Amino acid sequence: MQYVSGSADAGGCFLCATGAVAQEAQDEANLIVHRAELAFILLNRYPYNSGHLLVAPYAHAGDLTLLPPPAGHALFDLTQRAVAALQEEYHPDGFNVGLNLGQAAGAGLPDHLHVHVVPRWNGDTNFMPVVGGTKVLPETLDQTWARLRQRLG
Ligand SMILES: [Zn+2]
Repeated sequence: MQYVSGSADAGGCFLCATGAVAQEAQDEANLIVHRAELAFILLNRYPYNSGHLLVAPYAHAGDLTLLPPPAGHALFDLTQRAVAALQEEYHPDGFNVGLNLGQAAGAGLPDHLHVHVVPRWNGDTNFMPVVGGTKVLPETLDQTWARLRQRLG
């Protein structure tokens, strides 16, 4: 039950803090575009591309093998919905979808797993990130939030 309620070592976890139902009125500030019963979708505050989404269970869990099946199903269901919304709204040429499990795999928040959904366009890895070490996004996070919040209902 402690696992399910997300109370184990969740202090300081931004997904627990922003995903808490009590924080629902702050969804725009927290970039949450959709909530379901067991999982939610939010914008990555540090996107690789416009429309870069994160899908996370409410449960504070870093071990995929211990995620209760209903939460796992909800996670994949929302991943499908995130891809569909991005296809309809942004018409990308492809997607990177995946989990970074553990710090060695590049997880920025290893204790609360989350699926990255990154829309890709032909040629989007251009000279700016490669040479300039920076990214150019064609719209602000606020604009992305408004489009996807509307699209996901
Ligand atoms: Zn957490």
